[in-house]
Amino acid sequence: MNPGSATVGVVRSPSESRYAAGRLSPIRRVADLRRLRDEQFDVLVIGGGVTGAGAALDAASRGLKVALVEARDLAAGTSSRSSKLIHGGLRYLEQLELHLVHEALTERGLLTSRLAPHLVRPVPILVPLPAASPPARVWQRAYYGLGVAAYDVFAGVFGNGRGMPLHRHLTRDGARSLFPSLRADKITGAIRYYDGQVDDARLVVNLARTAASLGAAVVTSARVTGFVREAREVVGVKVRDLEAPDSAEFEVRAHTVVAATGVWSDDMSRMLRDVGVRPGLRVRASKGVHLVVPRSAITGEAGLILRTPTSVLFVIPWGGHWIIGTTDTDWELDRSHPAASARDIRYLLDQVNTVLDRPLTVDDIEGVYAGLRPLLSGEADSTSKLSREHAVVEPMLGLLLVAGGKYTTYRVMAADVIDRAVRRLGRPAQPSRTDQLPLLGADGFAAAWRDRLDIARRHGVTAGVIEHLLERYGTLTVHLLAMIEADPALATPLAGAPEYLAAEIAYAAQAEGALHLDDVLTRRTRISFETAHRGAGTAAHAAAVMGDALGWDAAVRAREIEHYLARVEAERQSQKMPDDLTADAARLGVADVRGYAADRGTDLLEVEL
Ligand SMILES: Cc1cc2nc3c(=O)[nH]c(=O)nc-3n(C[C@H](O)[C@H](O)[C@H](O)COP(=O)(O)OP(=O)(O)OC[C@H]3O[C@@H](n4cnc5c(N)ncnc54)[C@H](O)[C@@H]3O)c2cc1C
Repeated sequence: MNPGSATVGVVRSPSESRYAAGRLSPIRRVADLRRLRDEQFDVLVIGGGVTGAGAALDAASRGLKVALVEARDLAAGTSSRSSKLIHGGLRYLEQLELHLVHEALTERGLLTSRLAPHLVRPVPILVPLPAASPPARVWQRAYYGLGVAAYDVFAGVFGNGRGMPLHRHLTRDGARSLFPSLRADKITGAIRYYDGQVDDARLVVNLARTAASLGAAVVTSARVTGFVREAREVVGVKVRDLEAPDSAEFEVRAHTVVAATGVWSDDMSRMLRDVGVRPGLRVRASKGVHLVVPRSAITGEAGLILRTPTSVLFVIPWGGHWIIGTTDTDWELDRSHPAASARDIRYLLDQVNTVLDRPLTVDDIEGVYAGLRPLLSGEADSTSKLSREHAVVEPMLGLLLVAGGKYTTYRVMAADVIDRAVRRLGRPAQPSRTDQLPLLGADGFAAAWRDRLDIARRHGVTAGVIEHLLERYGTLTVHLLAMIEADPALATPLAGAPEYLAAEIAYAAQAEGALHLDDVLTRRTRISFETAHRGAGTAAHAAAVMGDALGWDAAVRAREIEHYLARVEAERQSQKMPDDLTADAARLGVADVRGYAADRGTDLLEVEL
């Protein structure tokens, strides 16, 4: 059987195509909400980040009856705010954590070659060798050279095929011809290696849609406020539909509840505190900030990985931009909207400027985003299945908590937690087979890419448009082209962000589960950090297109625009503040579009008590 055309799953009618079943449309949301109320699920996953969407896909592809509920938008948490690298982790190699390197490189190979070749691509990265005395130079080249060579060998021998070109040693001149902005006096040469790059938010949407195509109910703006318990077992969750704030909370029944809630994991444990349950694991948040600058601000054909006093800094090409990051500081303030302060921004500029011939200033910055790493901390009890990176624990019968890890290894985390759920079911179910399951849009991608000029000719658009669409939608591009054919106005470039088409906004609303303007400007497209106006100059156009697709009246359109502009302004203000406390206070001036107030892990307690 072709794994990509599998027909397992419980709701999909055999007469419905896999694509149609994977459309997260407004009608589908209504139907899935009804399913949440009416059905009993094998597995209910809380959290639509990469871990939760991956877990929902893993379970649905084993033939289980699955629901995924996400409080805000798909990837609204950490999974849209990463460095966007699918990587083995050169750092683990240095720490001799060879099993972690092996695991991550295996995943990198799978994603680039089979699962999501339309979304994960090789990106060249330079390891600059710092200027030093001649003996130190020899030692450094040997040390880093061995490390990078081992990385390639690991990927080739154990990593399911590299899917990446091999590394290369470069002299100082060689390094500068690839990266002219590198200061000549700072380096003696470099080593170029490759890792994978991904649009993190888009991959999550793709995972959720693929799960939906196999029968999973997927509902966003659905916040879990508590657990349903019978005796000492969790048998479901209480959900509030944030799109209908006046409607009553309702219960969803499931044999096993999987909490994949990242930095919100401790909230899940707190919901059980009245029965004296020990959480089994604790998760703390560490903030990482990225800057985005235009490609013209730095001249280079590859990325950079630089050592900093505390960690590493990446400078990675991102279309017409560079992404520079990241920081690593404890964060105990608002988790929904972590704020970058002026201090974070200064730190990143100082670090990157140590190697650039033309120093960057705040005026170069187009966008800034901050995310929170879900780091495991202490309390991992004996029932936990721990690799050093992630953990699966069962703090109470019927509830599995999965946390930690990194984006690259989402599939391993998903398989681990669903293995546990399957064991609880006590009936036979297939083992995980997501390593064989291309995501929607992946099947036929190589052929479509090869034929892109022909596709462009046939549809009367430029090759650039087809490349842009293929790299974001894979072979689902045909559906956007069909929309444009039916309504040629959708071929219009978006105001203020002409690399995107109006069709992408309409498609996001009709097939990718986008419910708000923020969803399309921040996650379905990345306009919020790719433009100096941060999406403010696109908001009116995008709201008009989205409004037409979703039937918004004038008041809703105006409210969505107003909220988005207020959010942009609050972020700008926070980035002028000297420290975390003042930046957080400035950012909190505007609540979440889905009606969140401050999100420090105390509001849920109020619901429970
Ligand atoms: C700055 C930074 C850079 C990184 N770079 C990389 C990288 O380059 N490569 C890499 O492999 N990894 C990277 N990572 C790590 C990676 O991004 C994370 O490990 C991963 O995204 C975590 O995903 P998650 O699904 O566990 O959490 P999240 O993405 O945060 O998802 C949790 C979800 O749960 C939802 N939720 C919470 N409470 C509830 C509730 N009560 N009801 C319903 N839903 C709820 C939230 O809204 C959220 O969407 C980086 C992390 C950071 C912070």
